[in-house]
Amino acid sequence: MNVLSLSNIKKNFGSIEVLKDISLNVREGEVMSIIGSSGSGKSTILRCATMLETINGGSIIYKGKKVAWENPDGSIVYANKGELTKIRSYFGLVFQNFNLFPHYSVLKNIIDAPIHVQKIHKEKAVEIAKDLLIKMGLEGKENYYPCQLSGGQQQRVAIARALALNPSILFFDEPTSALDPELTGEVLNVLKDLAAMHMTMVIVTHEMNFAKEVSDEVMFMDKGVVAQTGTPEEVFSSSNPRIKEFLGRFY
Ligand code: ADP
Ligand code: MG
Repeated sequence: MNVLSLSNIKKNFGSIEVLKDISLNVREGEVMSIIGSSGSGKSTILRCATMLETINGGSIIYKGKKVAWENPDGSIVYANKGELTKIRSYFGLVFQNFNLFPHYSVLKNIIDAPIHVQKIHKEKAVEIAKDLLIKMGLEGKENYYPCQLSGGQQQRVAIARALALNPSILFFDEPTSALDPELTGEVLNVLKDLAAMHMTMVIVTHEMNFAKEVSDEVMFMDKGVVAQTGTPEEVFSSSNPRIKEFLGRFY
């Protein structure tokens, strides 16, 4: 089953066409990595898929439920507010800069949305949060504030916060780009563990070895189009000159 289907997505900022015709399907349990140069539209895809930006063309479907689609006249319709609220609970998004609430403890960062959005009992939310902190290697950090943690620890709290809402799919936008190299590994290891547990994930990353190792599918973006998509083997051995030039910067 497809958790997410994007079909023929177009996105303009003013007169600039940033996404030209993007289609992708993410199946349940699959890890998709999105790679490509800065400015190629990777973040914009995630922002459109997570409704932080509206699309100008195409359609978005989560688990068979339509988020947005095109009228015959080409105009875009979004589902009603109630429907969108429900669909928002299907996904989580983890950013490059963690985006934790600085004035909340680690525990409060994680339990806030489950309690206030999902109306889960506080005791249950705390239990889930503590369990996730153990999984993230952060046992005992409940009462710390984000500023008391390393970047790698903060990012693992952000991942725990996203997981606490029990999403069907998690999006990551360059989750290790803001980290010192020695802290990158601990976050990538968490992502590898999630992949091994068949968490459905879409990961924008510049970590090529990681993408090669964990992805079921790799998508290479170039100037607002999908230049190639396939297995890691297919994409990393591609003869496409744009991909070769891009990968050449890493090896
Ligand atoms: P990537 O994540 O691959 O680096 P982005 O999706 O961030 O690329 O950006 C793709 C293009 O869209 C870039 O040229 C960027 O300048 C432009 N862009 C992104 N967001 C906006 C915005 N809010 N307004 C205008 N242009 C934008
Ligand atoms: Mg980006």
